[in-house]
Amino acid sequence: MVGLSEAPQRAPGRWQIAEVERIRVETPRTKTFRLRPPMWVPHLPGQHYDVRLTAPDGYRAERSYSIASSPLDEGAVELTVDRLDGGEVSTYLHDVLVEGDQVEIRGPFASYFVWRGEEPVLLIGGGSGVVPLMCMLRHRRRTAPDLPMRLLYSARTRAEVIYADELGDDAIVALTREPEGAPAPDLPRVQLGRIFPGLLAAEAFDSGLAFVCGSNSFVESIAQMLLAVGYAPDRIRTERFGPTG
Ligand SMILES: Cc1cc2nc3c(=O)[nH]c(=O)nc-3n(C[C@H](O)[C@H](O)[C@H](O)COP(=O)(O)OP(=O)(O)OC[C@H]3O[C@@H](n4cnc5c(N)ncnc54)[C@H](O)[C@@H]3O)c2cc1C
Repeated sequence: MVGLSEAPQRAPGRWQIAEVERIRVETPRTKTFRLRPPMWVPHLPGQHYDVRLTAPDGYRAERSYSIASSPLDEGAVELTVDRLDGGEVSTYLHDVLVEGDQVEIRGPFASYFVWRGEEPVLLIGGGSGVVPLMCMLRHRRRTAPDLPMRLLYSARTRAEVIYADELGDDAIVALTREPEGAPAPDLPRVQLGRIFPGLLAAEAFDSGLAFVCGSNSFVESIAQMLLAVGYAPDRIRTERFGPTG
């Protein structure tokens, strides 16, 4: 899988050829790609871009990636990608793409999974499902730091926590597979084990929205817990990244 097809460099929503300005290693399995498209438009936190790869024989593969950066970062977007063994697109992005390369993208795409400044907000992410939630958290920190927003983030181990240095007191990290005897995780608020109904009930708000993002099974189980702690269905917004839990 290589390079680009001949995409017209036109309005956002159409395919554009973006420059890979910077690649940051977040964890052993995740990297953040800072892309600079020729025509940038501000996004809403929660929106995503599509990335398209084209092989020399014309075969194409296209995947969606949520935007991690705040729309205040004008001119560029950051996508954080989890590398899936055997995955077509994520392995290419991780193993082949280097700074200065070009990549074909289109977006940002509208969806109901967007934060438009409602408050208060409960964010619940599993694995790379934290990416669009981090966009919301980052944007809120820069525009409305006093707005109530909490993040519950489930990761397997401390080493797999994305954006660890940025989480701060707004976030509780649930580590589901931290090995026994591992040193105490250097995170402000951490609990060992899965997100459970009591934790959710303690962090829930009486009003406002909950954004839930992750694998299908993660989203399903958290949505059920939210209903059980009193969130009406119209207060729950979900985004599903993929099949596994
Ligand atoms: C709206 C939206 C936003 C997304 N945002 C992000 C993001 O910010 N960061 C990110 O890393 N991914 C994100 N994804 C998932 C991403 O689009 C791809 O599905 C993922 O990168 C796998 O693509 P691939 O080509 O590497 O693997 P594929 O070749 O598609 O699949 C390889 C294997 O992995 C399995 N698989 C596919 N997707 C997943 C998954 N998400 N989790 C576990 N197993 C999977 C497949 O069943 C298959 O067995 C998002 C998905 C959607 C729909």
